[in-house]
Amino acid sequence: MKRDQVIFDLIAKEENRQKVGIELIASENFASKQVMEAAGSVLTNKYAEGLPNKRYYGGCEIVDQIEQLAIDRAKELFGATWANVQPHSGAQANAAVFLACLNPGDAILGFDLSHGGHLTHGSPVNFSGKLYQPHFYGVEEDTGMIDYDKVEAKALEVKPKLLICGASAYSRDWDYERLRDIADQVGAILLADISHPSGLIARGLLNDPLEYCHIVTTTTHKTLRGPRGGLILMREDFDNPFGLKTPKGELRKMSSLLDSGVFPGTQGGPLEHIIAAKAVAFQEALSDEYMAYVIQVKKNASVMADEFVALGYQIISGGTDNHLMLIDLRNKDLTGKLAEETLGKVDITINKNMVPFDTRSPFVTSGMRVGTAAVTTRGLKEADMKKIVHLIDKALQNHDNESVLAHIKKEVNDWMVQFPLY
Ligand code: PLP
Repeated sequence: MKRDQVIFDLIAKEENRQKVGIELIASENFASKQVMEAAGSVLTNKYAEGLPNKRYYGGCEIVDQIEQLAIDRAKELFGATWANVQPHSGAQANAAVFLACLNPGDAILGFDLSHGGHLTHGSPVNFSGKLYQPHFYGVEEDTGMIDYDKVEAKALEVKPKLLICGASAYSRDWDYERLRDIADQVGAILLADISHPSGLIARGLLNDPLEYCHIVTTTTHKTLRGPRGGLILMREDFDNPFGLKTPKGELRKMSSLLDSGVFPGTQGGPLEHIIAAKAVAFQEALSDEYMAYVIQVKKNASVMADEFVALGYQIISGGTDNHLMLIDLRNKDLTGKLAEETLGKVDITINKNMVPFDTRSPFVTSGMRVGTAAVTTRGLKEADMKKIVHLIDKALQNHDNESVLAHIKKEVNDWMVQFPLY
């Protein structure tokens, strides 16, 4: 077969873009060479519907061992007793949980998308908001933080069957113990979606959701630094509380409902090449090197937040406990869209983001979200974070001055090539 040079040239261009730029998108990271090697392996050729040793296809003896290793390593990493490593993505992991726990029309309560939540927690444009009855809690306008008394009042009012915590743009830790108490008062299942901070949680740098939450979902490609994918975990299995039965009329354990929620509920054959890459990433995440990495991610975010504040930027909630921060640009007379475009011109990648109580549309927004997971993998430290904030500030102040922007772009490119990517 002729080599598809068009695609490989574009991949080379993307590799160069990643090499010369400063990557601050909070949900991105750089997976290791061995993670990518597993993801690009012959395992992509194999069908393996089912679970290890319970497949609907022959020839699964080797992928069974690989998937079992991924499950065992995920359990070790998070202190879980049960894991499903098959979800193709974070959204798929959540879809499987919803399918396992709920009937169409059931009430759910999640963190508002416009306050930092995720689409899959009940947004009207997502399956979660279309098939179920979504309700939301948010942050306080003055503090930028969640008021758990208000979450409790809302839960008592709407009586959700699923209470969801976790976010895409919330820089503070979560009070899982309090949320479990709220869930218990209304008989809800408590789901924590730790897609963003899962690497920090795995290594004990943030509160442990598995101690209190019935079910935990995560992506594997953000702070966890694996391949793009999803994962579902439980510390303890439990009887499903809503009497969901098998077609034969038997009550089922939640682990069995969740396994079926993934396959055949929402997916077909698992991606064994990605599962192998997850196994590699979980092993990496158990290492001392990774522990040093997540400690540095957190330090870098804290220094970056302080530096933004020192330059007069308003961070929602005033700072960060994790790897990211959400910056309200209204006092700087900038929109998120203009910030994203301006920083794009100097090869600093961020994303525009709604801020709580935003009056602008999601296509414009009043904020930007930044995170330190990727730049920390690159090897950048505290002093570098300060330098990045100053480069951002200079670019934003000169958003209409192309020659200053060209100068900053050169500085960024010359600097980043000193931190080899692969
Ligand atoms: N949940 C949260 C909290 C997220 O931030 C994301 C992704 O940004 C997802 C779920 C969805 O993950 P994926 O893009 O892998 O479907």
